[in-house]
Formats: sequence, structure tokens, C-alpha cells
Amino acid sequence: MPGLLSRDVHLPERTLASHYDVIVIGGGGHGLATAYYLAKDHGVRNVAVLERSYIGSGGTGRNTTVLRANYKTPETIKFYKASFDLYRTLSAELDYHTLRSERGLLWMAHSEAQANSQRERALQNQVYDVDTVYLNAAEVHEVCPQLDMSCGGRRPIWGAAYHLPGGIIRHDAVVWGYATAASRLGVQVHQGVPVTGMVMEKGRCTGVRTPSGVISAGAVVSAVGGYVTQITDMVGLKIPIITHPLQAFVTQSYQPVLDRVVASADLHIYVSQSARGEMLVGAEIDPYTSYSTRSTFTFAASTAARAIDLFPFMAKLRLLRQWTGICDMTPDYSPLLGPTPIDGFYLSTGWGTWGFKAIPIGGKAMAELVATKRVPEIIAPLGLDRFALDRCVSERASAGTH
Ligand SMILES: Cc1cc2nc3c(=O)[nH]c(=O)nc-3n(C[C@H](O)[C@H](O)[C@H](O)COP(=O)(O)OP(=O)(O)OC[C@H]3O[C@@H](n4cnc5c(N)ncnc54)[C@H](O)[C@@H]3O)c2cc1C
Repeated sequence: MPGLLSRDVHLPERTLASHYDVIVIGGGGHGLATAYYLAKDHGVRNVAVLERSYIGSGGTGRNTTVLRANYKTPETIKFYKASFDLYRTLSAELDYHTLRSERGLLWMAHSEAQANSQRERALQNQVYDVDTVYLNAAEVHEVCPQLDMSCGGRRPIWGAAYHLPGGIIRHDAVVWGYATAASRLGVQVHQGVPVTGMVMEKGRCTGVRTPSGVISAGAVVSAVGGYVTQITDMVGLKIPIITHPLQAFVTQSYQPVLDRVVASADLHIYVSQSARGEMLVGAEIDPYTSYSTRSTFTFAASTAARAIDLFPFMAKLRLLRQWTGICDMTPDYSPLLGPTPIDGFYLSTGWGTWGFKAIPIGGKAMAELVATKRVPEIIAPLGLDRFALDRCVSERASAGTH
């Protein structure tokens, strides 16, 4: 039986060594999962995760916890499905309760063109064994009777792509589950240790600089979320990532009324209800580039109005908490992970607004790459070279809010 949330949440205090086989920069989901699978799948245990703040302080502890595999390209559907399948057994694998719940995820169509596009998504998903069907308006209403089918009288709902296993999971449990399981296998997780520079010798990355000194490593993996270009600048590598803020909010707790996740690309929002009863509303990225995590009133006001168009009962709720994270956006809205032109330096980035659901497969594939020096097939289309080769994996329409 998986342990309770509160169990084993302390990490052993360890002294920083002067050398590790692998250093992972960033204690978010991707960094911790990479370290865990290095130890578990490949027996590489002399690994340190260096986190400048506390683990989960980045996007992994700020996201809206949606898990789904309803993507559009063959490459990404397979990738996210593999992650989804790993999430299904994650509690048992890590011996940690992750509070995963499959709810059914509705992607609204508000026009004939959108209905055709969601029909196409459903068919494409079915080809790759992902459970998505197209529902007409009456069927949508049956699956989610709380919806105002006229959407505030402005954008009547025509139908929806219904991804049956889509759902949510507890994000901090994912962080702590990976951290404690990795730690049990001998991985060192160091919090409060920023990487301030990289050590380069003859064009090869051989370690990192920290306020406590230089630490050498056989390989260095950057998994720093929206801060990635700060790290790539340190090794002189240019990558096509732009960082944008992304905001969300929850209302006060309300009686359990919504057991689906509902997204509307027309309204640029998605809504779910947390286990605590809070109505959670997420949206698209802020339109400006920034490392700022300041929340704005404009976001709260405009997003709340659109959420009320979908669910009129939300008009009587009060906003309880609002927050912001930053997102490492790629031009094609697909992740960017794999080796780099710099020997010994690997990237796990481009997780944008979609990377939480990819943590298990991202970590597993990166671990295989670093341990074997071979690019796993499942991430081969997602490497840095795709931009130079004009082989983008276009997934903007799968963000759910475009
Ligand atoms: C509001 C919001 C909602 C979202 N909703 C979803 C969703 O529903 N589903 C989904 O799949 N995705 C979602 N995302 C995206 C998802 O959260 C991210 O893509 C994912 O968490 C990225 O994980 P990561 O491990 O790469 O980065 P992070 O979790 O950001 O971790 C990076 C870590 O690196 C550390 N770091 C940075 N610089 C340094 C340094 N120099 N030295 C040491 N450490 C450093 C940071 O402190 C941070 O802890 C959302 C994001 C936000 C902000």
C-alpha cells in the first residue's frame, strides 16, 4: 500500500561532495524524476539534484495538475500516453500516495470549425489507443450538466472532444514521492544550492559552480524550468526558448459539483474542482516575456468572467488564492529534451504550460539517455536539432487554451 501524504517527507541531510557521476540542476518534477530513474532503472546512484530554493518551488508546485494524453501528432500522443500510463502506477512505484483521480476531460467546440477539429482529435487519439470520443451538444450536457450550454449567450457549445481518462493528481505529492524514492536509492537532493556557473574544459561540460565551490560531474542535466536560458547562457548555447508567466486561481471551497475537467479554447480557460472543493481556473500564458511571478488583477477579473460564462454558479464564489509560475515556451509547443552540441551537457526543457503531465516519461527517457548515451526513440523527435532541420512537432492547438 502506498504511504500517506505526510509520511517520509523529510530528506536526509547530506554534505555536498566534490564529484558526482551526474548532477541534475533543478529540483522540480523533471529533475527529481530523472534522478530517480537514473538510480532505479540504471543503477547510477552517485547523483545530486541541486535545487536553489526548495523542491517543487517552480512550475511543478504551481501547476493546475491536469493529466491527459489527448495530443495531436503521432510523436506527442505516444509520448504523453507513455507518461499517462506511468502515472497510473506511480503511487505503487514510489510507495507514495499521489491522489490521482481520472475524471473525464471535455474540450469544448463553439463553432463548426472547432467541432471538426475536435472530431479529428478524437479520431487521431483512437489510432494511438488514447480514449477520446467526440460528443455532440446533448451528450456534453449529459456528461456535464453544470455547463451553461449557451456559454453566457455568446458562444453556444456545439460539442466536445471527451478524453475519458483525463484527470488530476496532487502536484506536491509527485514532487515528494520522487524525491523520497530517489533519496532511498542513494540520490542526494540538496535544497538551497544554486548553480551559479558551469565548468567547461575543452568544449566539454565537466561540472558546475555553486556558492560552496566547484563540483565536478560526469554529466550535467539542466532541468530548471523557465530559468533554462540562464543556464544555457553559462555554457554559451543558444536555444529557442522564451519564458512567459502563467497564472491561475482557486475560489473558496464549494460543495462537490464538478467531477470533470473542462477546457475551452475559445474562452482560453479550463476549470476543475479540487478535492478540497475549490474551483480551480487556469488559462493561457501572459502575453509578455518575464521571469516575474507577480499575479495581476486583470488576469483574475477577465478569467473569472469567462469561467462564469461556462459555469454560472461560480458567480457567487469568492476568489481565495491566485498565483503565477513561469513557463519555458518552445516555438512549436512541444518539449525540448535530449543531448546538446556540448559534450556532457543535457537539456530537459520546453515544458511550457504542458510539462507536469510529462514528468514520468521525461524523467525516464532522460535517465536512459544519460546512462546509455543513446537517445531513446520516444524522445528522438523532440531534440534541439528539430528546429534547424525544420521538423517542428506542432502542438499549439493542444495547449487547451488556444
Ligand atoms: C499556473 C500553471 C499551471 C500549469 N498547469 C499545468 C497542467 O495542468 N498540466 C501540465 O502538464 N503542466 C502544467 N503546467 C506546466 C508545468 O507546471 C511545468 O511544465 C512543469 O512543472 C515543469 O517542471 P520542471 O521540473 O521542468 O520545472 P520546475 O518545476 O519549474 O523546476 C525547476 C526548478 O529549478 C530550480 N532552479 C532554477 N534555476 C536554478 C539554478 N540556477 N540552480 C539550481 N536550481 C535552479 C527552480 O527553483 C525550480 O525549483 C502549469 C504551469 C503553471 C505555471
